[in-house]
Amino acid sequence: MARERVAILGGGPAALACAWQLSSSASLRDRFEITVFEMGHRLGGKTASSRDEQGRILEHGLHILFGFYESFFRLVREAYAELDRPPEHPLATWRHAFHPDGLGGLWETLGAGGPVLFQYPRDGGVPGDGREPRPRDHALHMVLGCLQVLGGYGPFQQVEAALFPSGESWRSLGARSPSEATLPRLRRRVHRLARLLERGAGERVIVAAIDGLRPALHAALERHQDSGLTLGLVFADLWLSLARGVLVDDVLGVGGFQAIDHLEWTDWLGQHGAHPCSLGSSMGQAVHDAAFSFIDGDPARPSVAAGAAARGQLAAYTYRGAGFFKMQAGMGEAVLAPLYLGLKRRGVRFAFFHRVEALRLDPTGRRIQAVDLRRQVELREGPLSYRPLVDVDGVECWPEEPLWDQAVEVQGHGSVESYWSQRPGLAQRLELGQDFDRVVLGIPVGALPRVCGDLIAASPRWARMVEQVGSIATVAAQLWFDQDLESLGWPHPPTLLSRLPPPLTTWCDMSHLLKLERLHGVEARQLSYLCGTQSGPFLAPRPEDDPDFPRREHARLVDDCELFWDQHLRLFLPRAGRERLVSSYLRVNCEPHARCSLALPGTLSARIAPGDTGFDNLVICGDWTDNRLYLACAEGSVRSGVMAASAISGQGFPIG
Ligand SMILES: Cc1cc2nc3c(=O)[nH]c(=O)nc-3n(C[C@H](O)[C@H](O)[C@H](O)COP(=O)(O)OP(=O)(O)OC[C@H]3O[C@@H](n4cnc5c(N)ncnc54)[C@H](O)[C@@H]3O)c2cc1C
Repeated sequence: MARERVAILGGGPAALACAWQLSSSASLRDRFEITVFEMGHRLGGKTASSRDEQGRILEHGLHILFGFYESFFRLVREAYAELDRPPEHPLATWRHAFHPDGLGGLWETLGAGGPVLFQYPRDGGVPGDGREPRPRDHALHMVLGCLQVLGGYGPFQQVEAALFPSGESWRSLGARSPSEATLPRLRRRVHRLARLLERGAGERVIVAAIDGLRPALHAALERHQDSGLTLGLVFADLWLSLARGVLVDDVLGVGGFQAIDHLEWTDWLGQHGAHPCSLGSSMGQAVHDAAFSFIDGDPARPSVAAGAAARGQLAAYTYRGAGFFKMQAGMGEAVLAPLYLGLKRRGVRFAFFHRVEALRLDPTGRRIQAVDLRRQVELREGPLSYRPLVDVDGVECWPEEPLWDQAVEVQGHGSVESYWSQRPGLAQRLELGQDFDRVVLGIPVGALPRVCGDLIAASPRWARMVEQVGSIATVAAQLWFDQDLESLGWPHPPTLLSRLPPPLTTWCDMSHLLKLERLHGVEARQLSYLCGTQSGPFLAPRPEDDPDFPRREHARLVDDCELFWDQHLRLFLPRAGRERLVSSYLRVNCEPHARCSLALPGTLSARIAPGDTGFDNLVICGDWTDNRLYLACAEGSVRSGVMAASAISGQGFPIG
């Protein structure tokens, strides 16, 4: 029997996950012939990274993989297992490529200000091993977590130690301040709530207990502004509000997270009792930073749907092994090359340099009849022949520039990954029945107005989705310094630190990559990755309307960074002057497809699920689809790819 031809458009993590799942058994490989059409010379989209001529790893932005990424880690582990690399390979197994970590922090502006660090406790689990806990467990875990922080016992003692660096604890502070009547009272109430939970009390009793302790909590908060204790109280206040909201609004029940989709995250927490001081704190605002979620990129206008944020917070709490994992190479090397090599072995075909220009409907308006492409580069050995990887010290890497020696001739100029590129290319049309039977659309939402005009005109659901699911430009910086972290003035171990001043609001020490990079001609001892948002409009302009846009945006980033180096770098690296900088890489992700998807209040219901597009032979995947996680991340993307594969094959592959 002829195999069904599946054309996957786009080569990001969602599309690759779909290809992986759809080729995961011999019987599936007998059923489907899969071709991935990618506009660029590499895979990964917003997770792509590459090596430049100096040996540097250049990333789209900082990427951290969280311990709750069940689908993502399952995919990665399967890919490494299938590759079965020799032990001498620098990234022989997934364990070589991902190291458990968990030291995170926020730059807190409350009181005297400064870093507040959290050490997420390790556990014996392995991400990718199993499913998430049942929904009710989420809420109870969360409440227990708050109580453990407040009470200063159990596995959260490490968190408490970070919150009270002087060695004091909630309990000792309470005991040392007998005149502060609110503290012992609060402690008694906390212990009562803990006992209720241990006895498995019902949700109504728990909510009443939370409400009962709140006045004492707020009184303590107001009394203790500026002290280390405030941070612990703020932390508990926020988590208790989240727990209360989850229980009262039954978001784990019938209405689901969409029931609170119309509300902004901090407004919703406020409705469930959080103190304004907690809401305005860095802890209260941390989700906005993590999700790049600011209206028009304006730091003064944070906004994220309560449902999406609550879902993300709850999921994050279910991590296995470690709070997060740090890659021991670039994302391209640790994740995308193994996936690509595994897919090639399974017979999946790759058409690099193929830019999708339009999806065309048939006269009934119910099926994709054709896909218009532009082949940006002609290859010597045919359109599917590109070999994209290079060997750098035994590791398969993606070069920063296409490997032009495989091309017939190089025409035009500009990046093959840019909608602003000036490459004439060859127009090509894929026809239903001849070239494909099914289409998987893995192109990001920001680019859909260009690519899916017919679909948007034919379907009000599509029009609503494209109009409402917003995206935002992001910025990233990589800095190589000639002194180590300690000499530059950071007194703690390598940390993932958020809530820094814009535009580079998140910082992570990545010096462990230096040994892999071995820069040519430069001695670097510390490597910093930073990223954040770029202010600007809800939609990227059309290239024909504003040909100079990418250049201007990059110039703006350079100016903003100058200011950042002068004013803010010293907050966390006080001895890192410009004279210490030996190399840098700045990047603005302002292209329609490079923008980060947003989960703004009132928009989750506009998302379309991968298998429910309304068009017979089309499924979709990406972090912008209804993948039940909503915040843009590698896990949401992989989940959507798995959902797309389930819809095509009729097999219910596990998610989460
Ligand atoms: C700065 C930054 C930092 C991030 N950090 C993290 C993090 O720490 N952890 C985390 O989990 N997530 C992080 N994310 C989010 C994560 O990168 C995305 O959620 C994920 O990459 C989305 O995957 P996707 O497959 O949906 O889309 P994409 O990754 O955008 O992939 C889409 C693909 O489609 C291709 N394409 C686009 N247009 C066309 C066309 N016309 N024709 C053919 N191909 C086309 C693109 O080239 C690309 O390969 C970050 C995102 C950004 C922007």
